[in-house]
Amino acid sequence: METKFSRLLLTLCLPFFVASCATWKPGSKDAPAPTESRAADIKPSAPAAPVPAPSGIANVPAAVLPPAAAGTTGSEIDFATSYGSVKRHGLLYTAGNRIVGEHGMPVSLAGNSFYWSQWQGAFYNADVVKWLKLDWKAAVIRVAMGIEGGGYLEHPQEEQARVCVLVDAAIAADMYVVIDWHDHHAHLHAAQAVAFFQEMARRYGQYSNVMYEIYNEPVQNTTWHDDVKPYAEKVVAAIRAIDPDNIIIVGSPNWSQDVDVAADDPIRAKNIAYSLHFYAGTHKQWLRDKALKALQKGLPLFVTEWGTCNADGKGDVDEVSTREWMDFLQQWGISHCNWSVSDKDETASIVKPGSSSRGYWVESELTPSGRLAREWMRSWAAAADAR
Ligand code: MG
Repeated sequence: METKFSRLLLTLCLPFFVASCATWKPGSKDAPAPTESRAADIKPSAPAAPVPAPSGIANVPAAVLPPAAAGTTGSEIDFATSYGSVKRHGLLYTAGNRIVGEHGMPVSLAGNSFYWSQWQGAFYNADVVKWLKLDWKAAVIRVAMGIEGGGYLEHPQEEQARVCVLVDAAIAADMYVVIDWHDHHAHLHAAQAVAFFQEMARRYGQYSNVMYEIYNEPVQNTTWHDDVKPYAEKVVAAIRAIDPDNIIIVGSPNWSQDVDVAADDPIRAKNIAYSLHFYAGTHKQWLRDKALKALQKGLPLFVTEWGTCNADGKGDVDEVSTREWMDFLQQWGISHCNWSVSDKDETASIVKPGSSSRGYWVESELTPSGRLAREWMRSWAAAADAR
């Protein structure tokens, strides 16, 4: 019996073993998982496969024209072949200062952050998600559920429903999705955050697509030790009671810039990443230096929000600074979401006021920031597909 079983097992496994040996090469997505050694993880990637810089705003190719019948079903999109697909990377987890896929290799996703849900809710629909995947090659979206200012605290069911529309659309499109508690004072709303994330964990914890971002941007007068960390520990424990594994992303004081402070006293739990927010017009090398300190102390970072312009969403598009930041993110394999999917009349919006809220944007509807962000996103996807 035992012999027959062993022979059967060998017969079943041998073809897979041979196929693995024939196709494996160093650096391939099928390579063995890296060790958990922190020393090995704090080095930047070898600059073997740089993301090519976009060709510039003037040379942005025209967006694909909308199909004759607006309101796609998405069935025409071959989601499974694109680089950021969940089918390809599976459940993400942290290993040292990296975020890696089920195959154990680092995964760097590029995508879009939506705007505050209560103020740009028209864009919270499945057509926009499909368009970002199809035309922008977005691998991830960030769902920014507004909390204050007429958001979740006042209209919990309405705002949660908007979140679910986008999360369901991302799952259908085989994309990753960050569920963001978009709040500047979340430590004052811990009970509501716990209830919301427990509901999200019950609903989505079994999906590899989902990540939880529990505190958008703690403001200046908060401290990591007294405000943000105790809040994060409470919400992390509540999520982990239901969902043991999906990544939880934690903010830090000064609008999620103090990642170096968090690195000195990190959350003691599995699969915790830390958000780093930058705006290319305002934040330069000094913020990358803080990020570098955090990385060298072993903190995995995720840029859940970045802009091409100033931190207030206004000012000029800073192409040079954006490129410096993208080089840094590429070097360290850091994922990023561009702020924001919106037609508000400000530099950071990806489309001009009055543009369609269902996607299918033509080139003339994109803002200069939208064009630059789209080019970087497409470059990211192309570079990842080439690996
Ligand atoms: Mg899970």
